[in-house]
Amino acid sequence: MNVADSQRVAAALEHLDYQHVSRAEEADVIVMNTCMVRQSAEDKAVGRLTSLKSLKKKNPALVINLMGCMVGVKPRKELYERFPFVDVFSAPSDPRPLIAHLYQQMGRDLEEVETSRRFAWLDGDIRLPADEAGQAVTAFLPIMDGCSNACTYCIIPSRRGGEESRPAEHILSETRAMVSQGVKEITLLGQIVDRYGQDQPGMPNLSQLLRMLHTIEGLERIRFLTSHPNWVTEELMRTVAELPRVMPHFEVPVQSGDDEVLENMRRGYTAGQYRELVARIRSLVPGVSFGNDIIVGFPGETREQFEHTVGLIEELRLDVMHLARYSPRKGTVSATRMADTVSEEEKWERFRVLEELQEQISVEIHQRYLGEVTEVLFEERQRGRWKGRNPNNKLVFVESEADLRGKLLPVRVTLAGPWSLVGELVESGKTAEKA
Ligand code: SAH
Ligand code: SF4
Repeated sequence: MNVADSQRVAAALEHLDYQHVSRAEEADVIVMNTCMVRQSAEDKAVGRLTSLKSLKKKNPALVINLMGCMVGVKPRKELYERFPFVDVFSAPSDPRPLIAHLYQQMGRDLEEVETSRRFAWLDGDIRLPADEAGQAVTAFLPIMDGCSNACTYCIIPSRRGGEESRPAEHILSETRAMVSQGVKEITLLGQIVDRYGQDQPGMPNLSQLLRMLHTIEGLERIRFLTSHPNWVTEELMRTVAELPRVMPHFEVPVQSGDDEVLENMRRGYTAGQYRELVARIRSLVPGVSFGNDIIVGFPGETREQFEHTVGLIEELRLDVMHLARYSPRKGTVSATRMADTVSEEEKWERFRVLEELQEQISVEIHQRYLGEVTEVLFEERQRGRWKGRNPNNKLVFVESEADLRGKLLPVRVTLAGPWSLVGELVESGKTAEKA
């Protein structure tokens, strides 16, 4: 979400004739987009922000914009006091305060900021930043902002505000604009992406939106994330199965495999329900793959409860795991009312147990691709090899002298590791049997 937000700020700045520079020392404007989801992210943001102080001292004309979850929907007084060298504070996803500030400096009409059709985020007229146009093969597209759920550990709803879906016309016109700039794959983003359109009357749901996007010529692939177990509908499963350009991959976090921990997290489902959901998706969507998030060391999580998570993962064997050690976030229910009982050492231990297990599972899943042909959309050259992804979002590397950027090609897999696959291009003419 932050990557997409930053891109939009960059695009908005380019509308004002700013250009990207690679060193902070050369910049006239620095935007720091921040994440607060865990303490480590916050510490990193504070560290980098503090390091900008000396730049501002050397160059008082420098404009520093602090953006994102550190600011939240409404900046608090304590932020102004703590970071007096910051010129502009802006909420997640909102480039307007910065643009208004720069307009004011230029002596231009502020009202234009409110109404101007030039602001990508507001009217769907997205332009990729110049260094990405014609280069970026994949792009993120937020289709909603905020979250109205209340998982007890999570700071996102209080920082990004309540759930709000964006109009379908904006999403469609942004997608068309991106495709016209060379993008072949979009990933639709939302905190509970399957709830798209549910917060306002008369909007299409995610399945209907996917169908609309599917008609856009030149768009080769559509992905979406993050799903919530309670909101993945059969209609969505059938839509994913039916539409060839919607990729068969679900990012659907379980967070824990223990019912009591899930209840304390207020996730709204049991491990058994999650198990059934995975089985249902597997039965309706052929060749589907899964990404999953897990938090280890949630307040009160016993070793036995943790073992339930291990058991669930051993049983379900999902493709990818995003692991996090529980981090108390100020103001959340879990940080306020539940003691952080699991030691750092024990959190690390549980982290490693799951990490190791997932590595074994991933290798095993990847080995099933050996000798098979898989369709890869190539994104960029990395250390002499072309990097792309297959429909299941697996990273695939191929050696080739040709320019493969943006090409969708069949690849025969020759090597399988835990994180990626290696393969070779299948010569055209020989692909007929498998492609
Ligand atoms: N909306 C998505 C993702 C939210 S944040 C969802 O509901 O799953 C991304 C991930 O960060 C979460 O899935 C969770 O695993 C992790 N996370 C969020 N808050 C956390 C916290 N306080 N401590 C550790 N991990 C956290
Ligand atoms: Fe946070 Fe839960 Fe909303 Fe995801 S669904 S953003 S974890 S509150």
